[in-house]
Amino acid sequence: MPELPEVESTRRGIEREATGLRIQQLRIYDHRLRWPVDPQMPALVAGQRIVAVERRAKYLLLRLERGTLIVHLGMSGSLRVLDAATPRLKHDQFDLLLDSGMAAVATMALRFNDPRRFGSLHFTGEDPGRHPLLRALAPEPLESKFDAEYLHRVTRGRRAAIKQVLMNGRLVTGVGNIYASEALFRARISPRRGARRLSRTDCVRLVRSVRAALNAAIRAGGTTLRDYVGTDGNPGYFRQRLYIYERAGKPCRVCRTVVRRIRQGQRSTYYCPSCQV
Ligand SMILES: [Zn+2]
Repeated sequence: MPELPEVESTRRGIEREATGLRIQQLRIYDHRLRWPVDPQMPALVAGQRIVAVERRAKYLLLRLERGTLIVHLGMSGSLRVLDAATPRLKHDQFDLLLDSGMAAVATMALRFNDPRRFGSLHFTGEDPGRHPLLRALAPEPLESKFDAEYLHRVTRGRRAAIKQVLMNGRLVTGVGNIYASEALFRARISPRRGARRLSRTDCVRLVRSVRAALNAAIRAGGTTLRDYVGTDGNPGYFRQRLYIYERAGKPCRVCRTVVRRIRQGQRSTYYCPSCQV
């Protein structure tokens, strides 16, 4: 599943490749995404330039001259920048055909592939921050609102394990399973510890570790979208060097203790029983 770093890398790639280009046509191949795609949308966006590419949580915002396209990659989606003539693959759901405004034919396509169709595409002519999908989102882990003070406050009285609290999208948005494990390892905090038992110092360390884990992944994914696809044609979510995730049974990279895997809320958690308390 694309997590926040993949979405941010995608944003950077699209920003680099597509800012300033004009949408010649939005071509929808399958309207049945997570929510049906509005059939009016192609007429609303045709001819508009992409003026900026932003992100809110795991939503990509393509700011147009008049309005904003809101894209979510869902469970299995990817957006790639391709030559417009590239043949379609199975599960390609829509194309934004782009040109510089000088030529009659589209030169590039921003192509959305999504086998499971949990992704989504919306358009709004209003402030996107007030769109129903975006208006109630919790603070972002890379923004200043998510600080030790905030984490300390929202964990008071919470019996749930800190790993689960970190993944609670109502408290902080976009920390998925991989980065919750990685951040807790970096902060040397056991994923099983009750959230309310975090001290202020723990919160300082954890906030710093969440940011460090996400930023390391974003840096590792800093290739162009053209490189984003594996040689098999499938979108390869980049695999950066992870400290703890999926290392069950292997020695901890810090102390050589065997890494453990447990289940928390149906998800696998990886941790080192000696480094993390
Ligand atoms: Zn260790």
